[in-house]
This record gives sequence, C-alpha cells and structure tokens, in this order.
Amino acid sequence: MTGIRDIIDRCREKALRCEDLTRDEFVALLSIDPDSPDCDYLGETARSVKEHYSGNVTRLGTSIGLDLRPCRMSCDFCSLGEKVGLITKEYEISDDTAVQLITDLRKRGFYQFTLRTTEFYPIERLVSLAKRIRSELGYGFALSGNTGELTPEKARMLKDAGINAVYHAVRLREGIDTPLSVETRSTTIRNAKDAGLRVSSGIDPIGVDHTPEEIADLFLLYYKLNVDGMCIMRRINVPGTKYEGMPEVSDRRLAQIVAVARLACGNRWTIAIHPAVKQGLLWGCDHISVETGANPRDNNIDMLRWSLFDHDTALRMMEDAGCVFGDNPFEMREDERTQHIKDHLLA
Ligand code: SF4
Repeated sequence: MTGIRDIIDRCREKALRCEDLTRDEFVALLSIDPDSPDCDYLGETARSVKEHYSGNVTRLGTSIGLDLRPCRMSCDFCSLGEKVGLITKEYEISDDTAVQLITDLRKRGFYQFTLRTTEFYPIERLVSLAKRIRSELGYGFALSGNTGELTPEKARMLKDAGINAVYHAVRLREGIDTPLSVETRSTTIRNAKDAGLRVSSGIDPIGVDHTPEEIADLFLLYYKLNVDGMCIMRRINVPGTKYEGMPEVSDRRLAQIVAVARLACGNRWTIAIHPAVKQGLLWGCDHISVETGANPRDNNIDMLRWSLFDHDTALRMMEDAGCVFGDNPFEMREDERTQHIKDHLLA
C-alpha cells in the first residue's frame, strides 16, 4: 500500500519536472492533518523544491488600495458588501498620494506594486494613474492591477498604460458565495493573458469549511487557465458576514496549502501567502505582500507611516525564515542582495 510520504515523494519528483498533479494526489496532500509530522514532511519537501529552483529568494510586494466603497455584489465573505453595511461612506486616496507612496518605497528599494480597487472602479482612472506612475517613475519596477472584470479592450488598456500583471481569482464557491460565475472570472483571466498581462490567481478565501476536493478542483482549473502566480489566502470571518463566528484556518493549514501549491507547480507559479505568516515562508512560498491604501481609519499621512512599519516587519519575517530578499528585476547576486537589504531596507 502506498503511504502518504510515498505520495509526497512522488509529487516532489513531478514538481522537479514541472508536471501536473492528479486530482487524487491533490486530495491526498490536502487531507493530511495540518498538525501532524506528515504535514511537516510535506512542508519541508515543498521548501526543498523552492530551494532547488530559486535558492530561498522571496519577493515582497505592496498592494495599494485606491478606494473603499460599499459593493453591490455583496459576496458572502466580504466586509465591503452593501448588505453587510459595515462601509457606509466612500474613501479614495488621491493620485498624488499613490505616486508619493510608490516614490517613497522605490527609494527604499522596493520593486513591486499592485494598484487595488473595488469591483466597479472606473478603468479610465486606473489607466490614467498607471500612465502617470510610468511617466514620472519609469519602468524599473513591476506594476500590477487588482480590479474588476476585464473585457479584451479593458485588458489591453491596462497593458498599454504600463501595467504588466493583474491579480484575478476564481473564488472558492464562486457562484454560491458570490453572484459572479466561474466562467465570468475565467473569461477575465483569459482576456488578461491574451493582452500579454501576467496573471496571478488564488486559492481564496480559504475557510475551515472548504474540503480538500473543492480546493483540488480550483487548482485543476488554474492548470487549464495557465496562470502565472498563486496566492493562498485566508478568509477573515468578518462580523456581519455569513461566516461571522466561524474559526479561521490556522497558520499551519494555510502553509500546508502553500506547500501543495509548490508541489503542484514546481517553478511555474510564484506563490504568495496572505496574510503573511512565517510558516508559509518556511514551506515554499516566494512572495508576500504588504497592504496599504484607502482605509476608513487612516488619513493619508498615518497610512504612509503604517505601511513603512509593515514593510520592515515583513522583511524581518523573511529574514527569520531564512529567505533572501529578491524583489529585484536587475538580478543582484545573493551577496549584493544581502548588502542591499542591510543598506536600504533595514537601515
Ligand atoms: S465583488 Fe469583491 S469587493 Fe464586491 S463584495 Fe465581492 S469580494 Fe467584495
């Protein structure tokens, strides 16, 4: 009889050949008890695959929320849903603030920024901001968009404005917990890829109620959509939403799904974990992100201070997990990166 460690070893061999896992393999890995020694074995195996491909290089991104407003989609898990009623006013950060924030973080050595909006933010505004950022700050860094659904034309507008990637996920229980369909989300992903945008997707938002089979099926869909990145994201059970009061998935469960994603892709995807937890860095993720931006509790000045603090915290977490800061498109050598982080980022 094949034991779970034999299956993990077989999946490692597949990861080293960048070969797809089967549904049965996904379900077996996702059914491991997150608190068991077998899960440690899974995580350490995934880390060895990451080391094989990239050393321990890990990237740090910044996601900037451009607006915050009640959303008529009212997905069952989301705090922004109109029906939940938590957000009653609209908030936006100005283009000047967004540019200032990116300028400040660029000086400190960061290279990756995502402009995040609510579902119905006007694409023309996003395009205008992206063009301004590129014209004032140049092209020496990655600029992504996380916005609503994209037609082929809208995807091309983002690409032409200087955005090089988008985050777009088919949600777990899409069409059940959300009013959107799997096909709608998949079409946006295809449109973005056709426009030449890199697409990061996600296993998102993960709750304790999601079964190994549901998660496996979403991974299998992403194989078909040929996405470029994967974010493993915990569902925060916000009071007032359908999931209020339900426990959240543990750090180890979240990191286990990171490990499964690493074995599933080899090096075909970047793998992020959100929120950033050290266990995920230990078990094979290579990207974490710091959130900032429109927030009903912050004015812009406080927001900038808060974001810088959080970048430092994230960097120290990466160091603690033995990762090498790699958010650099200019391919620094490892010793140069180490010096860079000391001189510019933790100074
Ligand atoms: S579409 Fe996005 S912003 Fe709107 S309710 Fe759903 S998850 Fe929230």
